[in-house]
Amino acid sequence: MDFAFAPEHIALRETVRRHMEEDAKPHARHSDETETFPPHLFKRWGELGILGARYPEEDGGVGMDKVSDCIIREEIARVSQAYCAAFSAHSHLGMWPIWKAGTEMQREQYFKPAVQGEKVACFGLSEPDGGSDIRAMKTRAEKVDRGWKITGAKLYITNAPIADFMTLAARTKPDLTIDAVSLFIVDLPAQGLAIDSLKKEGLRGSETGLIHMDELFVPDSHLLGEREGTYSTILECLSENRVGVAASVLGLARGACEEALEFAKTRIVRGKPIIEYQAVAHRLADMATDIEMARLMVYWGAWQVDQGILSTANASKVKLVASEAALRVSENAIRIMGGAGIMRDHSVGMHHRDALVYVIGEGTSDIQRNIISRALKKDELEL
Ligand SMILES: Cc1cc2nc3c(=O)[nH]c(=O)nc-3n(C[C@H](O)[C@H](O)[C@H](O)COP(=O)(O)OP(=O)(O)OC[C@H]3O[C@@H](n4cnc5c(N)ncnc54)[C@H](O)[C@@H]3O)c2cc1C
Repeated sequence: MDFAFAPEHIALRETVRRHMEEDAKPHARHSDETETFPPHLFKRWGELGILGARYPEEDGGVGMDKVSDCIIREEIARVSQAYCAAFSAHSHLGMWPIWKAGTEMQREQYFKPAVQGEKVACFGLSEPDGGSDIRAMKTRAEKVDRGWKITGAKLYITNAPIADFMTLAARTKPDLTIDAVSLFIVDLPAQGLAIDSLKKEGLRGSETGLIHMDELFVPDSHLLGEREGTYSTILECLSENRVGVAASVLGLARGACEEALEFAKTRIVRGKPIIEYQAVAHRLADMATDIEMARLMVYWGAWQVDQGILSTANASKVKLVASEAALRVSENAIRIMGGAGIMRDHSVGMHHRDALVYVIGEGTSDIQRNIISRALKKDELEL
């Protein structure tokens, strides 16, 4: 058993940390206030090669392991979880199904420019009537001459207002089963498609949309993988991304804890720094312990991905532990900072709003518990 990072992981962490401090941190507060994502970041991430972290060099990526991907996400979210949501929706959810199931043309036209940060991707799965329940998906794709006509709506789609294309899930058979779902690539904007920007309480520095599709025409060449044959691709994509999302909330928790620790060392009340008060010190100890617990789960999950043994239930455990820990840590950070924690000069309030999103997004904590308990019932999990 070896808990240490390799030298290349440490070097990567330093590179991404420096980049985030220099290129992203100065914009994070403005993004949160204006609910806009800074357009330069995708290009910059393309130059750094981190959008292609998880893809082999022969396909245009840089062939890093999952541990590296988690390090990247942890460092991005330490500055802004919203920026990391944009990163994740693009570099994993939007791109991964194309890399996995795409034709040569689809990879050339969408995947390769996305690795460079020249095209921005989003992923349309959730719907107004079915976020947690993919089986209830209502968006329908009907076969027509030379293509498909798609009608339906996709809700809470990260990057939708700024994206150049969407990887879209739609039903190609009327049955309410997972086997009835197919994937498509949709150019944005498009005739027959409208995007409303949504106002959010959390992740305000990422842009989120509600997408309406009314007889949107998509050519045959934009069907992704086999008709009704890509549900396992979606599941695989979501499972691996749950570990990545957990890494990002770990970064968020670190960002909140670092700020509260600094504050506790320097804020003087009744003649001494507040860290000298046991109630504050114990809160910090709980936060550090929560962060370590999340870190162990995240890099255990990343290691499982790298070994090719990550189960859906273990991905759920990682996401559940890390997201609930980040929520506690960011709340404790606000409590430690008192009134200052509520003020927008500090980032802990933003971190807490963002942490709340992640006990919901990418499958709520209840859904993670459903997945874990289902595996327990079937004796698929070793205790
Ligand atoms: C900021 C943000 C960004 C997002 N980005 C994307 C994106 O890019 N692409 C995308 O496709 N989706 C995206 N989502 C959607 C996200 O994945 C869903 O919000 C999430 O899956 C929950 O679905 P829902 O909001 O419809 O909640 P619902 O499914 O309506 O759930 C409501 C409540 O009911 C509970 N519940 C539902 N079913 C069960 C059950 N079977 N057992 C126990 N409890 C249950 C839930 O835990 C929750 O408490 C995003 C969401 C947010 C908030």
